[in-house]
Amino acid sequence: MKKRRITSLAAVGAAAALVLAGCAGGEDDAPVDVADDVQLEGSSTFDAIQERGSIVIGVKEDQPGLGYLDAATGERSGFDVDIARWMAAELGFEEDQIEYSAIPSANREQELVNGNIDMYVGTYSITDDRKEQIDFAGPYAITGQGLLVGADNDSIQSDSDLSADVTVCSATGSTPIQNIRENYDAEPVEYDTYSQCIAQLEDGSVDAVTTDELILLGYAAQSPDTLQIVGEPFSEELYGIGIPQGDDAFRDFLNDALENGGDTWTEIWDNNLGATGIEGEQPAVDRY
Ligand code: GLU
Repeated sequence: MKKRRITSLAAVGAAAALVLAGCAGGEDDAPVDVADDVQLEGSSTFDAIQERGSIVIGVKEDQPGLGYLDAATGERSGFDVDIARWMAAELGFEEDQIEYSAIPSANREQELVNGNIDMYVGTYSITDDRKEQIDFAGPYAITGQGLLVGADNDSIQSDSDLSADVTVCSATGSTPIQNIRENYDAEPVEYDTYSQCIAQLEDGSVDAVTTDELILLGYAAQSPDTLQIVGEPFSEELYGIGIPQGDDAFRDFLNDALENGGDTWTEIWDNNLGATGIEGEQPAVDRY
């Protein structure tokens, strides 16, 4: 694994700082220009990042535990955000050189195609449809579609209860809403974000929210008295880092970083999702 010092982590949360300091692995205290020792030839994305002097990363910011912005402190946190920080550090960029851009599920491909972001790290499932427009590094996590209902709801206990009289909310442009439309009788209700769906569930406007179980766990943990996850996951979602299509050098670099990170992945999982009780296991990257 490359050795690199992270010299300024002021804006990174304490846990992330620990992780990144661990992944930096430098042996002396002399500050170095972190971008200088990055070997990445032939990547137009990396060339643009270097020219700009900052990296623009698309994220979610309303998904606690995964991609979350604390409006009061301005602090970003979550498993995806720390994966993004880790990749940025591997590319030679510190926290104050990262520009985060909050992008909802439906707009991710277009933002990458338009060159508005350098990469996207936010519960982004690798799919063949999406690969027609963009590429993915990873996967870096695996989860599956789940169901969230009110704590007092005992009529919906699994996806087999998603009958025609049930309204189920998910995000526009997501794999879960597509799955509902194609394979279930329930009435789909769409919003841009999952937090909007949660608000609908909490005020009784919809019967259920569906998306990846990892996302639902974050919302359920925030409101354990009013929300519950029911049933078993009913899809497989492999999270990738969305990148511009055709930049194989960039993709290889990120895959190498994911693959050679030692304990970094596990530390990031434990720091952000350890409380879920799910034992995280880093998946093997897919070198398609
Ligand atoms: N992982 C799913 C997807 O990429 C759902 C989560 C999301 O919308 O970000 O569509």
